[in-house]
Amino acid sequence: MNYQDKYELVVGLEVHAQLSTKSKLFCGDSTAFGAAPNTQVSPISLAHPGTLPKMNKKAIELAVKLGTALDCEIERHNYFARKNYFYPDLPKGYQVSQHTAPICKGGFITVTTDSGERKIVLNRIHLEEDAGKSIHDVDENYTCVDLNRAGVPLVEIVTEPVIHSSEEAFQFLTELRKIVRWIDVCDGNMEEGSMRCDANVSIRLKGEKTLGKRVEVKNLNSIRNVKKAIEIERDRLIELVEKKQPIVQETRSFDADKNITFSLRSKEESEDYRYFPEPDLPPFDITDEYIEQIKNLLPLLPEQLKQKYVTTYNLSLYDAGVICSEKESVTFFEGLLVHTQHYKAAANWMIGPLKQYCNEHKIGIEEFPLKEEAVAGLIELTESGKVNFNNASTKILQHLIAHPGQTALEAASALNLLQEKNSEAIEQWVKETLDAMPEKVKEYKAGKKGLIGLFSGEVKKRSKGKADMQEVTRLLNEKLNQ
Ligand code: ADP
Ligand code: MG
Repeated sequence: MNYQDKYELVVGLEVHAQLSTKSKLFCGDSTAFGAAPNTQVSPISLAHPGTLPKMNKKAIELAVKLGTALDCEIERHNYFARKNYFYPDLPKGYQVSQHTAPICKGGFITVTTDSGERKIVLNRIHLEEDAGKSIHDVDENYTCVDLNRAGVPLVEIVTEPVIHSSEEAFQFLTELRKIVRWIDVCDGNMEEGSMRCDANVSIRLKGEKTLGKRVEVKNLNSIRNVKKAIEIERDRLIELVEKKQPIVQETRSFDADKNITFSLRSKEESEDYRYFPEPDLPPFDITDEYIEQIKNLLPLLPEQLKQKYVTTYNLSLYDAGVICSEKESVTFFEGLLVHTQHYKAAANWMIGPLKQYCNEHKIGIEEFPLKEEAVAGLIELTESGKVNFNNASTKILQHLIAHPGQTALEAASALNLLQEKNSEAIEQWVKETLDAMPEKVKEYKAGKKGLIGLFSGEVKKRSKGKADMQEVTRLLNEKLNQ
């Protein structure tokens, strides 16, 4: 039987995103990734007695920026709380978090799946500090601790339990990652742990209103793994219910190699954490002017920019969508538009030859070897009819990459690929062509007008793509209809 007809999957996601600040949330230690263990640890990160935290303003700015981009309501009066628990990677014995009073409430992200567009509503976004990292596999007998990450600023983005398929979760995270990168709030690098996701999963009978008992799968480090873990849990929970076995509310972990989840611990309740307001940090207020200021700094979001490209530059929805799918390609495209007003051609070049080159060389558009100005030069040359597109997008492009000092025009003339507008030269190619095909000319004159394509193709060949094709057609018509 198809269980999907009987049960509804319910998922809520909690995403930890590392804010792109240079220093930690409450001290000046660097947040750079990849340093030797325990080299970015001041007495504050190490929780020495008597040290005091100091708020990093940039973190507030980034949280408000994200909240504004996602249509959240921004809390004006903010404070931190201590979430108490013991763990070797948490030297203070508590995590400073806004868990109980988030800086952003509500908001949403729109996702598109096969079943259409849906708004995934957010519960909240709150600021908190990261813990350190326990490392279990460098020493045989001991667990090691790296505290470089302790105190790094995070936002936790929490959705309502409104996601109903693994695909929806996948699209939500893809979109969220795109947005945080777009507005420079987080680098979105999941391998380096800048974005980590916990998935809360439950099932219920179709039509049921109350939520089922949930399990939480912790610390998923790729969007694909979130999708897989949700599917595994969905199937496991359905099987338990079908076998009339109880579901235990618990925290689980995902093993990507074995493709299974396993139990870590039973779920803590919030009273276990003994939250209380952080006495060492003053509350902070956010003003309307401050929010307005940040709103004004916000760039157009991918979806808005896509619409702008369609209306202002007349791009197709598809082309606009491809360009807006990554921040880097928008930057390159906008760079092209500084030097050319052939918007559609610029989009075609991006999606055609440039993308192809990048795919072949396994690089991103930001690593494309030519500057926007050089590519724009080539676009100008093509659009003004001085070179044909085929030559421009293959031979001249390659030549320019090999000789980055040259302009497109220099490259075209070095390769002898400038189109001949010169009627004399074209007349010669046309004459040679018609002389070489007397039979075809006869057929044409007898009424087989479609042969014009054959003739002009032949002229193009003889001219090695240099003949201006408008002029060729004009001359062919003139000669054949004499
Ligand atoms: P915490 O995990 O800290 O206790 P919450 O109780 O607010 O926090 O919920 C965390 C996440 O779990 C949210 O994304 C929420 O939507 C989701 N969630 C809560 N209950 C369920 C449920 N029964 N099924 C699926 N997701 C749920
Ligand atoms: Mg949780």
